[in-house]
This record gives sequence, C-alpha cells and structure tokens, in this order.
Amino acid sequence: MKFAMIGAGAMGLRYGILLQEAGNDVTFIDTWQPHIDKIREQGGVYVMRDHKDRHLTKIKLETPETFDGHPDMFIFFTKQMQLQDYLERCSHFFHKDQYAFTAMNGMGHIEKLQKYFSDDKIIGGTALIATVLPGPGEVDFMGKRGAGMMNMCPLNEKPDAMCQALFDQLQKAKMNPTLTDDFTGTLMTKVIFNSVINTICTMFELPMGEFGNFPGAYQMGRQLIDEAYDICARAGIKLVSSRDEEMAALDHNTRIDMPLHYPSMYQDMTKDRPTEVDYINGYIAELGRKYHYEASTHLFVTQAVHLAEFHRQNL
Ligand code: NAD
Repeated sequence: MKFAMIGAGAMGLRYGILLQEAGNDVTFIDTWQPHIDKIREQGGVYVMRDHKDRHLTKIKLETPETFDGHPDMFIFFTKQMQLQDYLERCSHFFHKDQYAFTAMNGMGHIEKLQKYFSDDKIIGGTALIATVLPGPGEVDFMGKRGAGMMNMCPLNEKPDAMCQALFDQLQKAKMNPTLTDDFTGTLMTKVIFNSVINTICTMFELPMGEFGNFPGAYQMGRQLIDEAYDICARAGIKLVSSRDEEMAALDHNTRIDMPLHYPSMYQDMTKDRPTEVDYINGYIAELGRKYHYEASTHLFVTQAVHLAEFHRQNL
C-alpha cells in the first residue's frame, strides 16, 4: 500500500518505518524545521529500541508544500493542537478517493478530519505503543519488536476492503491491531485511560511505575474513572472495558508493562511544549457539562496540569 504519514514525530516515525519495513511505500510529511534539517543532513532517521541498537534508517521526507504524491491513505500523528494547521497546509493534495487513519490520543481530531475526508473514508484508532523522540532526527521505539497493541474501527463502523488492507499491513508490521465495532467507545476508552496515567504522571513528573506502585493510586484512578464512566453512560457511549477492567489495565500498564516510561504528555511539558490535557481530561469535563454532570476531578486535574506547565514556563 501507499501511505503518507502526516507528522513524522515519535508515533509517525514508528508506524511509518514499521510499515515501510513490512514492504509498503511510505512518505513522511513534517513541518518542524530542525527535525527536517537533521534528517536531510544525516540521510535518514536514527532509530533505537529501548535506547539501544542506534542505526540509520532511510526515509522519504517532504513538507506539506513540497509533497505532490497520491497515497491510498494518510496516517495522522500530530499533537491535537497541531492538527488544524497541518490539515490546512496539506489540503491541496487530499482527494476524494483517499482514506485517513489516526490513532492520536485525546478527542477533537475526528471532527477536524471530517471537514476534509468523507465519513466512509475515516478510520480511527488507539495505540498502547510507547515511543519517544529524544531530539530532531532520532526516535526510540520503546519495548521489544511486537510490543504494545492497538485498536481500530472505521467511523461508519462498516469495515471495507481498504480498512481490511490497513489491518493486514499493521499486522504484518507487528503493531498487534484489533478491529473493534464501536467507534466512539473505542476512542473514549483510551481517552479515559490517558486521563489517569498521562495527567497524574505529568503533574508530578513521575515514571508510570512510580504512580502504579503508590498505595493511593487505585483511589486516585478510580475517582477519575468513575466520573468519566458516569458521563459516558449519560452520553450513551458504550466503552470497550468495564470500570474494573479499565482499573486492572491501568495497574498492569503502569507497574508491569511500562514502569520506567514517562507518558508523552510529560515529554511535552518537559520540552516546554503545550500538553494535550484539554483534549483528554478537558474533553471529558466538557462532555460532562453537555450532559449536566459536573466532572469536578477532571476539571481540577486539567487545571493542575496547566499549573505545572505555567510553573515550568516561569522557572
Ligand atoms: P510528537 O510530538 O513526537 O510529534 C508530533 C509532531 O510534533 C511532529 O510533526 C513532530 O515533528 C513535531 N515535534 C516534535 N517535537 C517538537 C518540538 N520540540 N517542537 C516542535 N515540533 C515538534 O508526537 P507523538 O508522540 O508522535 O504523538 C502523536 C499523537 O500520538 C499524539 O496525539 C499522542 O498523544 C499520540 N500517542 C503518542 C504515543 C507515544 O508514545 N509517543 C503513544 C500513543 C499515542
């Protein structure tokens, strides 16, 4: 298949390079100039796995202004707040026959994609796959080959041949995809998961295992989970896991799977970039408001993360 990755950051590079290694034709499109300059100067991207085996991988890299290809599918991996700018700069090469896939965190991106792609050509997903961009021109794939897993579902919940082809290529690339049958429930389940780990580890600057091993972790997580699940029940959103399953997944992910990992929200804050908290806890609180439910814990932690951002800006 022919792919164009919109956003060649940590996740864009991981998905794109693994799809390229699985035999697909992949072009990367990015706008961060120091990253673009470094990749061109090096003749590729330095790829590591768990900080080891640093090797150069050649990639095709373009900017929105220089790309003129016609891929079967665009894969979007920008931060939520960057997406609108990317869409505007890339819209001149979008065509009606092309598909858009994304497994970005948070909510708000699908409505933006719908302005450029028809509903039957949008596929959403979620990724439990940790990846770090240590600096321009370098990416670190955390976990062994085949580590992590992802869910995917077409927006119209009717998988077609292109959705199946994407699934097959992701499977070949060892991304461990699962095709689910409820679009909003799939995406919201991951938003709720991130609303605990990303947020708490970011405001206290903790690796995930330190939160998981804290004796009060269950109570803190449960309060956020209960609010979010109550809101989804009011909104008629069918989540993929029960509350207890979500709590068990949080425990396993933090203590067993990735105890030393810092979530991507933490990585943004420590690089003085804005975090995606408004699209995660902020989104849950906003959804609550729509259904006359005051999500006071989500509102509080949204502001707590903004306070942590504010504090770092004033250091
Ligand atoms: P990223 O920040 O690595 O890259 C996104 C874009 O930002 C790219 O265009 C990149 O070139 C640019 N960028 C990176 N560092 C920059 C800097 N210092 N200044 C300016 N621009 C910079 O983002 P990502 O981690 O690939 O995340 C993409 C989406 O996937 C997000 O919604 C994220 O929450 C989600 N996600 C990330 C992970 C992960 O482990 N990284 C896992 C699951 C989901």
